[in-house]
Amino acid sequence: MKAAIERLARGLSDAVFPPICVHCRGLIETAGATESGFRHVCAKCAALIEFVQEPHCSTCGHPFYGEMEGARMCPHCEGLDPAFREGRTAVLFKGPVRALVIELKYHHGLHVLEDMEQLFRRAPHVLALVRGATLVPVPLHSRKARHRGYNQAELLAAGLARAAGGGRACRALASAQHRHGDADRV
Ligand SMILES: [Zn+2]
Ligand SMILES: [Zn+2]
Repeated sequence: MKAAIERLARGLSDAVFPPICVHCRGLIETAGATESGFRHVCAKCAALIEFVQEPHCSTCGHPFYGEMEGARMCPHCEGLDPAFREGRTAVLFKGPVRALVIELKYHHGLHVLEDMEQLFRRAPHVLALVRGATLVPVPLHSRKARHRGYNQAELLAAGLARAAGGGRACRALASAQHRHGDADRV
C-alpha cells in the first residue's frame, strides 16, 4: 500500500514537474530512468559517470590508470601529506556527477539525493569502508546553513549509511570558518 501511494505521488509530481536531466537538461523517458537507475540523470548521461575502481590511491581514492602493485599513493597525497590514513572515491567529480552536486548545493535540489545514494550503492569499495562506522559530515558555517536551509554533507552521510546497510551518521561539528568557492567540497 505504501509503495502504491509512493508511486502515485511520484507520478503526480512527475506530471507537474517533468523529470529533466540535471546534466543535459533533456526530458527523461520513464523507461530510460528505470534502465539507468537514476531519476534525474538520463540514460545517455548516466553512461558518462566515471565510477572509480581498482587500482586507486589508497589514501584519497583517486584512480590510477594502468597496472599498479604494492603501496599506492598518488602524487597529490605525496605532496599534501593528508591527515587521514585511508580514503575511497565513489565517482569522479565531473559531468553528470558535478551537475548533481551543484543541483543539491546551490539549487535546493534535495530531490537528487536519491540519485546520490544510487551512486554510493554502485561503489562497493566505499560501502565496505563505511559499514559500521560513525560518519562525521563536513560542517557548514551557520551563515551558509541559514541561507541553504540544510547541510548537504549531513544528508549525504545519512544516505551513505543507508546504502552501506549499517553505520551511523552523526550531526556535523560546528564550523568556525566561512569558506568561499567550495563547489568541489560535498
Ligand atoms: Zn542527460
Ligand atoms: Zn591520493
